[in-house]
Amino acid sequence: MNKNMEYCCRYSALLLLGLTALTSLASHGATHRYELVFAEDSNSVQVTAQFSTPVGRLKARHGQARKLRELKVCGGPAIRHQRGKRINLPENTTCVAYVADLLPENKTQSSRWGDFSNSEVLITTPSSFLFLPELNNNDRVDISVQADQAISVPWASNGRGYTIVASPESSTGLILLGRFHEIDLSAIGLEKKAVFVGAADHLAKISTWLESPLAAVSAIGGRLPNPQVQVLAFDVGLSDRSPVPFGYVMRDQGEAVRFYVDASRSLQDLQHDWTASHEFSHLLLPYVRTQQKWISEGFASYYQNVLQTRQGYYSEVEGWQRLAGSFASAQAQNAGMSPNGTAHREFWQARMMIYWSGAAMALHADTLLRERSDGARSLDTVLGKLSECCLPSAHDWKGADFFAKLDTLGGEGVFMQVYQKYADRRGMPPTEVLFRRLGIEISDKTVWLDDTAELAHIRRAIMQVY
Ligand SMILES: [Zn+2]
Repeated sequence: MNKNMEYCCRYSALLLLGLTALTSLASHGATHRYELVFAEDSNSVQVTAQFSTPVGRLKARHGQARKLRELKVCGGPAIRHQRGKRINLPENTTCVAYVADLLPENKTQSSRWGDFSNSEVLITTPSSFLFLPELNNNDRVDISVQADQAISVPWASNGRGYTIVASPESSTGLILLGRFHEIDLSAIGLEKKAVFVGAADHLAKISTWLESPLAAVSAIGGRLPNPQVQVLAFDVGLSDRSPVPFGYVMRDQGEAVRFYVDASRSLQDLQHDWTASHEFSHLLLPYVRTQQKWISEGFASYYQNVLQTRQGYYSEVEGWQRLAGSFASAQAQNAGMSPNGTAHREFWQARMMIYWSGAAMALHADTLLRERSDGARSLDTVLGKLSECCLPSAHDWKGADFFAKLDTLGGEGVFMQVYQKYADRRGMPPTEVLFRRLGIEISDKTVWLDDTAELAHIRRAIMQVY
């Protein structure tokens, strides 16, 4: 090697090192390390938090800092500067330790479906005991857990323990500790065991009920939008309401879907209920800001009918009947508000518009894209791409940004076109012409399907009925 060559290569290597360092500075935020040791009786947890750089303040959204015990700088003095949900740390603190009591969920937030914590299982929220520094984009918290009991957490598993990154903090994440049933759905790509709190006799039925809509959602993009989602089902006992009276998505320190289910109902009853298809469909989208709830609710309401039909729980005509009926009810109840205008109304006034205006827009965009691309692209394909590039997402999205993103993922401009046409236009997006072209005829509120219609093939392709 001649001298010049050596110089050249050393120089390049240095330059490369420098560039690598710069890149890693830009792309890697702080990594904090937490160690949690849960007491055998599930009453408390010992927390040791090591920060990668000094931290000034910690916060737990549902915490009470003054109730922490033995709060101190690691190996140092006690910390006395606590206020409500916050702990102000002495200058240059890089390690903190404390003991927190674990409170059942109903002690930290109201639960309209009753208290499921008992001597066998504790249901608590990490945001009541996990005091964290503010997490910016790229910051992460690695957590190691020591527990004698089974544990279910919303955090993503990293092989050795868990990792938390920033999340939209919609709703309140949950931890279960103790005895509960675990359901292995790894065959459909769920990396975390689903949880059932209820009698063992119902376990096989609950497992079958959950599996199908999860598989239907993963079929959309070829994989689950978040393979680490925590799925929780609680038996509410006999319900005089629907078989699955309530479900919701939590995006707090990870993603989770929670169901309240009447496990005594038959498998057929559970499968005909749309709640699971609706809630799992929410995972196809990032968290869209709450003022534009009509986007997440609308897309989930569209897919609840599409997926129920694709799974064979609704006939094709029932799927379209339910969509058409809901569009008509939303139109009848609409008091001159636009989808974006729902943010300025009381929820009970805007409810139908919130659930169905976005569903009508999803149908418009899906049909338009399938028509333009001759069936090569669809709402399914762009949401599959979205899941590959951008989910789960650490932040909440603006509605227009979401629609624009879908256009960059093969949406061919149809999403922004639909958004600009209807998001601020009063009333439900009209669907009469669209229905006629798809071969969805309505007479006396009853739908019948016309297979000779111009876009009948698209109608069948949406529901995957051939
Ligand atoms: Zn919903």
